[in-house]
Amino acid sequence: HEIVLETRELTKCFHAPGGRTLKACDSVSLTARCGETLGIVGESGCGKSTFVKMLVQLEKPTSGAIYFRGKDIAGFSGEAARQNRRHIQMVFQDPAASFSPKMRVGDIITEPLMNFGMITRKQRMEKAAALLEMVELDADFMSRYPHNMSGGQLQRVGIARALALNPEVLVCDEATSALDVSIQKKIVALLTRLQREKNIAMLFICHDMALVQSLSHRLAVMYLGNIVETVPGGQLCEAAMHPYTQALLGSVFSLHMDCCQKIETIDGDPPSPLDLPPGCPFAGRCQKCMPVCKTNKPVLKDVAPGHQVACHLY
Ligand code: SF4
Ligand code: MG
Repeated sequence: HEIVLETRELTKCFHAPGGRTLKACDSVSLTARCGETLGIVGESGCGKSTFVKMLVQLEKPTSGAIYFRGKDIAGFSGEAARQNRRHIQMVFQDPAASFSPKMRVGDIITEPLMNFGMITRKQRMEKAAALLEMVELDADFMSRYPHNMSGGQLQRVGIARALALNPEVLVCDEATSALDVSIQKKIVALLTRLQREKNIAMLFICHDMALVQSLSHRLAVMYLGNIVETVPGGQLCEAAMHPYTQALLGSVFSLHMDCCQKIETIDGDPPSPLDLPPGCPFAGRCQKCMPVCKTNKPVLKDVAPGHQVACHLY
């Protein structure tokens, strides 16, 4: 599968009171390929959202590169950023927050096309009908308003709007996390079908390991702004090597799945990203912590095809 988007050592620091800096995203290098889903997992606050906001140019990187089709877009601003944004679209956890409550669904989903001058008013309703059909909503949704619609219906509208411009990359940030499990399954099935039909590269950001593992071709595990492990999607349970990944699996999969027998819980809270210790970011919570872990930060190393781990045990 062809690489469409690639980050290299992408870093985002925020200034905090007292002259301190918060490193929300620390040298993240990941690739997204056409027709594949890259899942990114980690606890809330681990930097997943900051990472994807840089991809869709809602945040400016502090350093590092974002290559879209080989061109570094990290420094884009103004019109260049706006033009590029149509290739990389986003589906949010709460789609309605970005809809105008006074607009009808037909206008909401075709607004991106209007913004890019790609459609006349006359063509608009025709396109809206096609987009509704694509996300399996009846044509009569065209004239409805966002209120009185269910969470699942709103998310279908959000997906239709995100796909209106035929993006090459679709970023889903906790896009199904607020939905009931049965609705969640239907939205995931819809996203998977559309990805296959349109050969889209999908980034699926999610804190639910069981869900993200079920639909990802490759997975990246993030902890305090760092990618600590990447693994081929179907192999997570058997192949996980990083103590943090194993702990996540133990705490989540033991509830839902039989494939992982190990039951471990993650002790303690993550340290404040403001006061990160010099060594391994997981050292304070790791049951296998060694003296070297407190002083030297481990880097990602290849351990098998498609499998990388950042841990001094390996
Ligand atoms: Fe644990 Fe050390 Fe590995 Fe970090 S580097 S995960 S502290 S064993
Ligand atoms: Mg988030």
